[in-house]
Amino acid sequence: MKLEKALDKCPRCAHSPMIIDSSGGELFCSNCGFVLKEKMEEAGPEWRSFSNEEKDEKSRVGLPTSVAISDMGLATVIGGENRDASGRTLSGSMRSTVERLRTWDRRSQAHESADRNLRQAFSELHRYADKLTVNEAVVEKAAYIYRKAFERGLVRGRSITAITVASLYAACRDMEIPRTLKDMAAVSNIKKKDIARSYRLLFRELDMHMPVVDPARCISKIASRAGMKEKTQRRALEILAMAGPMRVSAGKDPMGFAASALYVACTLENDGKTQRDIAEAAGVTEVTIRNRYKGLRAALGF
Ligand SMILES: [Zn+2]
Repeated sequence: MKLEKALDKCPRCAHSPMIIDSSGGELFCSNCGFVLKEKMEEAGPEWRSFSNEEKDEKSRVGLPTSVAISDMGLATVIGGENRDASGRTLSGSMRSTVERLRTWDRRSQAHESADRNLRQAFSELHRYADKLTVNEAVVEKAAYIYRKAFERGLVRGRSITAITVASLYAACRDMEIPRTLKDMAAVSNIKKKDIARSYRLLFRELDMHMPVVDPARCISKIASRAGMKEKTQRRALEILAMAGPMRVSAGKDPMGFAASALYVACTLENDGKTQRDIAEAAGVTEVTIRNRYKGLRAALGF
């Protein structure tokens, strides 16, 4: 999941830069969702002629690719019956023409609703990002994640807002920007547990790999944010080293783990920072620190 920026301006909303997914060669706008270039997929079932019975859409997952660039702009819905205006059955060649038109018709409808969906999601995304004071790079990553989720059909039947917020949360985690589920819930009015559920869905279905975060790096980050003494920071690193085997389990929550180590160090060094100060700097809850703190103290025999 490597994103690059293109120099291109979005032809629809003039937002720049557009984003390239270097693995797939896709180019899209993180502001309005406009897709300039999309990965060409194999010509799958799209080109098969279909009969009237074949109404179920299960085999046609996601957006038909080529339409995302331009559709035929058909304004009418073409009916399903193979009869002309006077009720006569269509000839074979006429029938295949009509079938082709129906394909375009469906594609253009699918495109329109996809477009609306992405536009809504991305405008929400920018709004939440503003409130959370996260930068454009996070928004771009979140937009990318949302678009992938949309293409995989993960948004269907779910709340656009919930998936949007979960995408933003995933982007924050991916870029190691400490924003909690609680922060996400506060700006979006989506319940924490619903965001968490959507996040797990994205994580699982999009096969995301969160970077392995080194707790030692988290320590220096938190310490500088909270304005802690150099000595406390060194002590926390020692505690981390002593806790050796525990670091393995810290892989899941390096920020929480680092925050607790800092809190232990803080009490030992009389640095005068509260659990709350450290929790805020780390973007974790005080409860997390308390729980980990107990385990850490017990393990180290303090
Ligand atoms: Zn745009």
